[in-house]
Amino acid sequence: MNGKVMPTTEALVSPMEAIHLGIFEGIKAYVEGDVLGSGDLNIFGWKEHIDRLWRSAEVNGLAMPYTRDELLEAVRACIIRNDYNKNTYTQPRIWPKKSWGADDSNVVVPVWPFDTLLGKGNKKFGEKRRFMVSSWRRISSDALPPQAKSWANYLNSMHAIREARRCGYDNAVFLDNRGFVSEGTLACLMMVRDGKVITPPVTASILESVTRGAFIKFIPDLGYPVEVRDVTRVELYASDEAFLCGTGGECTPITSIDDIKLGTEYPGPITTEIAEYYAEILAGNVNKYKDWLTPV
Ligand code: PMP
Repeated sequence: MNGKVMPTTEALVSPMEAIHLGIFEGIKAYVEGDVLGSGDLNIFGWKEHIDRLWRSAEVNGLAMPYTRDELLEAVRACIIRNDYNKNTYTQPRIWPKKSWGADDSNVVVPVWPFDTLLGKGNKKFGEKRRFMVSSWRRISSDALPPQAKSWANYLNSMHAIREARRCGYDNAVFLDNRGFVSEGTLACLMMVRDGKVITPPVTASILESVTRGAFIKFIPDLGYPVEVRDVTRVELYASDEAFLCGTGGECTPITSIDDIKLGTEYPGPITTEIAEYYAEILAGNVNKYKDWLTPV
């Protein structure tokens, strides 16, 4: 925190600080060779996430007390110091010291290990996930910047998740303010129709996801064209498969939406193929995309 490595229990700040006005990033490092194994780690999308953190700071008028290179190194240093030897998540957080103030910010980089749902034979991948279309619309750019990763935006997700749980679902899909499909509550959304992968555009109020960007690039390698365009709610109901993509969500298959079962097979075969390829990319086994990874 603020340039020093310390135990989480010592990373203390005044309750008067404007933590609620903060921004953050989520960055994952995966085990080299096999995402279900243990050993050396590679950070996925290291620079892309820190670039987005800078954009979030600019959009929300937060001061950045360090350079981009210093923050990149802070992420790496925190992973090394924790030495988990397994898949590791870091979450750089920046918040203003004073309410509304752009003068000075605090910076902290918490780190913790996580369990992936990727990797061959991973039972978590095939768990059933029943989604609903939320009655809450995804925040739109005329209210809050959806492209900034700020804590405030996550209240929108919290309402949708709470509504979904109240109604007996696992999670929800947001529509945007125009009524087109936007994204999940914590990840972007892709659907499969007739062998094509389709995902809503940035103008559908999504967070510009690092994972989505990578998926758009690598999915055509598997022979499936990717279309970035508006998606209607009914198209989603009629999809053969749908899945979430994001740092947290990785590649998460969706079983049904509003109790309408998607396709005939769960998890869908194309979703499974995409998830397996993605796991290989993250493990550093696909030469073509090795430059998406940075060894710690
Ligand atoms: N949308 C939302 C609302 C998210 O919270 C996330 C997770 N950061 C994503 C999309 C996916 O973004 P990324 O792939 O950059 O993690």
